[in-house]
Amino acid sequence: MTMKAIKGGTLVDANGVIDDPVVLIEGDKIVKVQSGDTSTPEGAEVIDASGLVLMPGMVDCHVHFSGSAGILRNFQERFEVRLIRAALQQTRQLLDSGFTSVMDTGGLIGFHVRNAVNEGIVEGPRVMSSRRYISVTGGHGDAQSMPLEWVKEGRPFGWGMDGRIADGVDECMRAVREQLREGVDFIKICTSGGGGATIDPAWVPEYTYEELKAMVHIAHSWRRRVMVHCYNPEAIRRSVTAGVDIITHGNMADDASVKLMKENGTYVVPTMAVYHRMVKRSEESGSQISGMAATLFDDIRRLHDAGLTLAVGTDTMGGMMPFGGSALELELYVEGVGVTPMEAIRIGTLNGAKVMGKEETLGTIEPGKLADIIAVGVNPLDDIKSLQEKENIKLVMKGGEVLKNLL
Ligand SMILES: [Zn+2]
Repeated sequence: MTMKAIKGGTLVDANGVIDDPVVLIEGDKIVKVQSGDTSTPEGAEVIDASGLVLMPGMVDCHVHFSGSAGILRNFQERFEVRLIRAALQQTRQLLDSGFTSVMDTGGLIGFHVRNAVNEGIVEGPRVMSSRRYISVTGGHGDAQSMPLEWVKEGRPFGWGMDGRIADGVDECMRAVREQLREGVDFIKICTSGGGGATIDPAWVPEYTYEELKAMVHIAHSWRRRVMVHCYNPEAIRRSVTAGVDIITHGNMADDASVKLMKENGTYVVPTMAVYHRMVKRSEESGSQISGMAATLFDDIRRLHDAGLTLAVGTDTMGGMMPFGGSALELELYVEGVGVTPMEAIRIGTLNGAKVMGKEETLGTIEPGKLADIIAVGVNPLDDIKSLQEKENIKLVMKGGEVLKNLL
């Protein structure tokens, strides 16, 4: 096995900064990180990124592969075409932007993309998939604009977000087991309203404690984590006390629910980019910025200041949330929430790995971990925005394999 050696100018990860690093890679793993010693082993394939900054591949814990060519809910488009677009283009857009791991938080397209990547049919980031997200009738995961019978049939509508309606403890357990039967990586449940829904506002708590408890019990028995789409304090309270591992969104959390999440070590994946884009659109059209978009940064700062472990999630789904734009979330952490650039990098790398349950193998550049490494031209500690420029992402390696190379 040929060893690979990446020479960098600087290395930046959640552990700190190293000057003149050399990262040695054997197979898919990092075997050594040299600092102050720029020699490379005899026979190693040298990748010279000596003017550049090495970073771990970034992690987006909230995407929905949709295969959308532009308009998200274009029902004229066939599922199959969208699947091909997602597998060939959206995976590439993520890789090119320096993201080497994502969690697809609900949808059949993402599930098939995961399988295609795992089989090596297509090049893409590591994908963890929840497959269908589980929802109450009329809830966030119910395609509310469709007749209920169509939704219950479970045919994919093609926009990449597919729900499984389940009401009552028995049906909820069955819904989780169905996802496990297909081999999902985690379970996603919608447990509050909100998020562009037409019927259920964000203040509606949807599942009961008993239903959530039963679903978490089954998932944990299979050693799978549970992520919930959740906004309001009561839904957070029910979720956390039922043992849910990850809250996504979380904008409306109050002091009591923040405290509860902190006590239980609940991870939170806010999705600021999607609100930020809505704000931009309102500004452009001159319309009023209201609701959660108006208080976005204060809401997320409260979660951060309480010491919760936050990760990057964007709700990237195509349409107004294009694939390849995930690094916007890191900028919003710095410019909006007020974290340091170093902390934003931790949030976008190691914390994402923690949410995935993969911090032993991903998230930092350390011996023993998988070689998911990117090389960038501009130091993100000086300019966090630069991570959004595709040409600035010079090298992308996933598991020791170079998948983008502009060197
Ligand atoms: Zn989502």
